[in-house]
Amino acid sequence: MPITGHTRLVGIFGYPIEHTLSPAMHNAAFAHLGLDYAYLPFEVRPDQLERALHALPALQIVGVNLTIPHKEQALNYLDGIDPQAELIGAVNTIKVEGEHLIGYNTDGQGFVQALRLKAGIEPEGKRVCLLGAGGAARAVAVALATTKIQQLAILNRTLARAQALADHLARHFPQLRVSAAPLTEQGIISQSQIIINTTSVGMQVSDDLLIDSQLIPPTAFVFDLVYHPAQSKLLAAAIQRGARVMNGLGMLLYQGALTFEIWTGVKAPVEVMREALICHCEEA
Ligand code: NAP
Repeated sequence: MPITGHTRLVGIFGYPIEHTLSPAMHNAAFAHLGLDYAYLPFEVRPDQLERALHALPALQIVGVNLTIPHKEQALNYLDGIDPQAELIGAVNTIKVEGEHLIGYNTDGQGFVQALRLKAGIEPEGKRVCLLGAGGAARAVAVALATTKIQQLAILNRTLARAQALADHLARHFPQLRVSAAPLTEQGIISQSQIIINTTSVGMQVSDDLLIDSQLIPPTAFVFDLVYHPAQSKLLAAAIQRGARVMNGLGMLLYQGALTFEIWTGVKAPVEVMREALICHCEEA
């Protein structure tokens, strides 16, 4: 698409930012729909985040995505926040409305949409085991809690973090059965219908398997938020057990589609965005 005086700008702030797949996904969508937008990556140091965000209205930028390490810090500089983003305690999308910055979090909904639309799994009533208790875990846990899952077991290396997330969920979703345990206590995995890895373990080929794979029920669905490599050791082990699996590319896709709709008000061309992601992921 040629850049003109009419082109509207969106982008992503992160540090580092060079490996982001989001520009490919969004620019493919704009080109496909003939929308005069461009999506650019910006390397923004944490100490520059406030200045960068406050410059958005002056530059008439439509909105930005936020990635590591900005998702939590950005809360301090918003003028308004979507209720789910507030519950998660992090934003991955900002829309500029006049002089105001409004924060959203599409990560959790993106996860649930990938589960429903791509894997054909309805989370309502399910027993879920969440591995990890960081930012991605919070987004996934809050979104799942709103879908009325039956039970959520959170296992994390640092127990205090798992307990804090469990307490937070219990306060806001009193009907949810939620528990916290250290990663060394894995028995609950054998009773889980959906097992989700939200830790960063699996991104390096040298990473060990996080759990005892013999505990994975063959009837379970295993979701790894890691998407590079496309098949982590966890997913390979789950397949060996006969389980169905999905990597994190679907979540990246659907959070992007939701963000696209927040910014443009136009239905996202999901298949075009998926093809762009797959193409760029293979190159990465
Ligand atoms: P984070 O806030 O830093 O949390 C990291 C989590 O991983 C914590 O639970 C941490 O446990 C755990 N962990 C790290 N190293 C570990 C190890 N060696 N053994 C056991 N546990 C370990 O990071 P995040 O933002 O949640 O991101 C986590 C992962 O999700 C990353 O791989 C990220 O790329 C991925 N992600 C994917 C998508 C997507 O769209 N597919 C979206 C968001 C994030 P402690 O609490 O004990 O430190």
